[in-house]
Amino acid sequence: MVSSLYGELRGYHRWSIRRRVEANQRLSRDELARLNEREFVHHVHRSIARFPFYAERVKGHRGSLPNPGEPVRTEELPVWTRHDQREFFAQQERPGDSMFAHQTSGSTSLPIRFHITRESWEWRNAIVDRAYGFAQAEEGRKSLYVWAADQAKPSLKQRVKHGAHMMLQRRALFDAFQQFGDAEREACIRVINRFKPHAIVGYTGQLVDVARYARDHAGLLTWKAKTLVNAAEGLQPGQRELLQQYLVDEVFLSYGCREFMSIGMECDHHRGYHLNTDNLLVEVVDEEGRPVAPGAEGRIVVTDFHNAATPFIRYEIGDIGVMAPPEEHCPCGRPFPLLKSVDGRLQDMVHTPNGPMSGLYITYTMRQFDDWIEGYQVVQDAKDRVLVRLLTKSEFTPERLAPVEALLKKKLGASMKIEFERATELTRRRSGKVALVISSIEAT
Ligand SMILES: [Zn+2]
Repeated sequence: MVSSLYGELRGYHRWSIRRRVEANQRLSRDELARLNEREFVHHVHRSIARFPFYAERVKGHRGSLPNPGEPVRTEELPVWTRHDQREFFAQQERPGDSMFAHQTSGSTSLPIRFHITRESWEWRNAIVDRAYGFAQAEEGRKSLYVWAADQAKPSLKQRVKHGAHMMLQRRALFDAFQQFGDAEREACIRVINRFKPHAIVGYTGQLVDVARYARDHAGLLTWKAKTLVNAAEGLQPGQRELLQQYLVDEVFLSYGCREFMSIGMECDHHRGYHLNTDNLLVEVVDEEGRPVAPGAEGRIVVTDFHNAATPFIRYEIGDIGVMAPPEEHCPCGRPFPLLKSVDGRLQDMVHTPNGPMSGLYITYTMRQFDDWIEGYQVVQDAKDRVLVRLLTKSEFTPERLAPVEALLKKKLGASMKIEFERATELTRRRSGKVALVISSIEAT
């Protein structure tokens, strides 16, 4: 509320966008489908007119450009890959309407950068809030974020601003971007006991660890939150039950990414992810980019309607999914169509002598060497040893590897044996996404 007013006064249209996003929940399914189609065609034409680079790609794929205003079917347009986006970004001058250049981290070894507009920023935040509302974790609800705090050390001004923002929204943060061993699990439980959140939002890997710790230390957890929003990763079999038995009453899966934030979210009927189709078009397509039938598995591609600064049109996110049949209606009555399942977001963990650690750490290290390392993955078969496979343009020398090894040792522990190997190809998951960590070590 306060933040909406502030955003409106600053000229961000925060209040009006939030009202629209809120009102879209009450559209009929047909109205929403028509809105989705209109927004898609609008964004495609805008992108063609604005970006010669994109127009060339469309021409190459379709044979010619559509006339202004002409309806376009999705399969007439190319799938936009990470490589496309990297090439596009490299030649793009900073657009006047760019709020900032965002970049992906996550479990992909090919990071991308992209410009984002203020309008899109406001939309995605409003959408997240609506989606999190399905799980009673919207703004203003007492929520604990078990979350990666920023890597960079924030200034005092940033810290004060962020602190005030968190307080206004009744949010607390437990930094999950550290070694997550027993000490952190216990500390997290103590924060839950003290803060008494209604909702917990976080990464599955860590929260499952916390639930196990609570199970193994009966009586330690004295506050059970109502809901849990699982961000950024899927759940393995049995994990929902574990979380619901030992940590929270009800688990909600959310599906999102850095490029678009919330893509879809479970409601309390847990029939799949309600897709935010007033902000995005989500398609499941085959190898040639043609939509597959509902119920069939395919690659997920996403179009973002409100980010005018980047042609995210049929962007391949690297996951595979299955769409629900259009006639399947969720008893909750929301008009948003359902994505039945998504695969490829399971968490990658590296085991160290000090406990498991998120593979994101490796990503942050490797990013510093992206002038010569194009991809990487970690193969682990013992807790004190890893093999790092590197995709590089040319053969590397020990001199080149030395700083990489030094930084990795800092993260993984001095006793970790680190070997390097040059690879011509990296192992991919079923989703097509490169497996960041291939581990034969069972989680404990
Ligand atoms: Zn529903």
